[in-house]
Amino acid sequence: MDDMHKIRQEIDELNFEILRLLNERAARVEKIGMIKREKGLKTYDPARESDMLARLLAENKGPFPSSAVKKLFKEIFSASRDLMEEEWRETLVVSRKHKSEDTLVALGDQVVIGGERPVIIAGPCSVESFEQMERICEGLIPLGIKVIRGGAYKPRTSPYSFQGLGADGLAIFAEIKKKYGLKVVTEVLDCRDIEAVSEVADVLQIGARNMYNYELLKEVGRQKKPVLLKRSFSATIEELILAAEYVMSRGNSSIILCERGIRTFERWTRNTLDISAIPLLARESHLPVIVDVSHATGRRDILLPVAKAALAAGAKGIMVEVHYNPDVALSDNEQQLDLEQFSTFFEGLGVKR
Ligand code: PEP
Ligand code: MN
Repeated sequence: MDDMHKIRQEIDELNFEILRLLNERAARVEKIGMIKREKGLKTYDPARESDMLARLLAENKGPFPSSAVKKLFKEIFSASRDLMEEEWRETLVVSRKHKSEDTLVALGDQVVIGGERPVIIAGPCSVESFEQMERICEGLIPLGIKVIRGGAYKPRTSPYSFQGLGADGLAIFAEIKKKYGLKVVTEVLDCRDIEAVSEVADVLQIGARNMYNYELLKEVGRQKKPVLLKRSFSATIEELILAAEYVMSRGNSSIILCERGIRTFERWTRNTLDISAIPLLARESHLPVIVDVSHATGRRDILLPVAKAALAAGAKGIMVEVHYNPDVALSDNEQQLDLEQFSTFFEGLGVKR
């Protein structure tokens, strides 16, 4: 019994020694990670790992068999890679580790995106005419909506579909702003249009199709207007975070991340809303996250429960497409709500004005 007690004590001590050595190793892994990052090198070096493993197995005298040694060291290598990845993510300026408090994006003194109160951004898919925008605003304003959306430059899948009114659409927005004092979110597709779009937009939208347009991201990062960055159809959460990093590392930290559904095999919705992206982004980054329920679902009948779920998961706002008469809309006519449907949706959400 005494012998057993002694051996157990020795094992305990060895465990602590192994732990100490593992962390000594981890500290060096962190140093290597830093050097690799500075040089822009990949953290994963499979050739080095397999070479090291072969040398360890050759050295192994047992009693652990090769298979056990291999398993143990593979775990150590994998934990080291995770450590380097985590370290790397934490160095990003969009990371929570860089800034722990939530970023608040203020649009004037009336609207704050990222605070307690969710912000509803409503409006048509496309700006079609002054009268169209007027009719939509007349419906939205009594409900207390303060931020309107609408595309002047439209990124359409087909080059033969309505491409937006372009500069004329911006001019309509300018008139609408003057008349109603609303804040405007509108998409910029091209670096050459940033200046013109910024003259009317309070928020520059980068659409799903342009999340990977790094030159555009850098350029909106160099100017001051807040940026609403949409997740691309097939972008991982990490790719979205890195796209935001492109913007913020150029100096603009007013960024709103937008989950708008990703492409999956599912056909009953236009895209599949990735609800888990909301808390994951919020944990990883200090930037506010909103959800575009219209493009996520592509249908009207489930917008309310989907938007409620998004808010419950921590979304700081909801974007939704609204048209006074969706049947005549020049784009996305199946998914836009009419004003009555929007009013029911808005009441159902129970968001304070
Ligand atoms: C839009 O919001 O107008 C739009 C085109 O959406 P997405 O870029 O998410 O497809
Ligand atoms: Mn649309």
